[in-house]
Amino acid sequence: MKRYRKNIVAGNWKMNKSTTDAEYLANDLCRDLAELRDVDVVLCPSFTSLQAVGKVIENTLVRLGAQNMHWENGGAFTGEISAAMLRDLYCHYVILGHSERRQHCNETDYEVNAKVKAALAATLIPIMCVGETSEERKEGKTEEIIKRQIEGGLDGIDDGLDGLIIAYEPVWAIGTGDTATPEQAQEVHEFIRILLQTLFGDDVAGATRIQYGGSVKPDNAKALMAQPDIDGGLIGGASLEARAFVEIVKSAIPEKIPDYKEDDAPSVSS
Ligand code: PEP
Repeated sequence: MKRYRKNIVAGNWKMNKSTTDAEYLANDLCRDLAELRDVDVVLCPSFTSLQAVGKVIENTLVRLGAQNMHWENGGAFTGEISAAMLRDLYCHYVILGHSERRQHCNETDYEVNAKVKAALAATLIPIMCVGETSEERKEGKTEEIIKRQIEGGLDGIDDGLDGLIIAYEPVWAIGTGDTATPEQAQEVHEFIRILLQTLFGDDVAGATRIQYGGSVKPDNAKALMAQPDIDGGLIGGASLEARAFVEIVKSAIPEKIPDYKEDDAPSVSS
């Protein structure tokens, strides 16, 4: 099941930055990241800055992601945004099921599943977030919660995952400065990979990239990225500051790219 997976680092800018500030940040980031080939880089600004950031990263290797979407293609859904609208703005990725949406917007696994299916149908790559709260971890329910979220979020998807990314983000580590240790994170990532193997088989489990998210900073990124089942990061706070994000991305560049067959490469970095 061990094979080469290109690391992927995504910045989740959340509800931060005016369009002008978002353009500045994207420009700063492009100076260092525009031509980087050994790690995939994704910027996820707010909806209102997608177009402007998309323009800045046009003709670079940096890709655009959104932070959410609706599962319907269109219609009477005031205030919502569809997968087709995101594709129209040249988004390649979309974050789905972030814990802040699960917490504050009562998003359920059922809804996350509908969004994942709609994203895949529109050839958007979902970054599907899962993670336990601190109470759930204390009660020894981490694996139960992750299993429920993954089985629920991927229910009815039978034809492979088309490059879908899972982000393991322990809720207790998000925005708290209280990051999971590399060992704690690896333990859950390995559990997720074994679960994917059970659900989808060796090939999908071996190819699927699993990001870690939760207070990743320049000083802890390298140790996290060095874990065998951690394939990059979903970065919140530290993605709002160019130097910190660039350092984190650089920590995700492997020291040595192993030889691998073309077939083994994830087909998601277009
Ligand atoms: C996030 O919200 O996806 C996240 C990981 O935030 P932070 O890096 O700030 O903990």
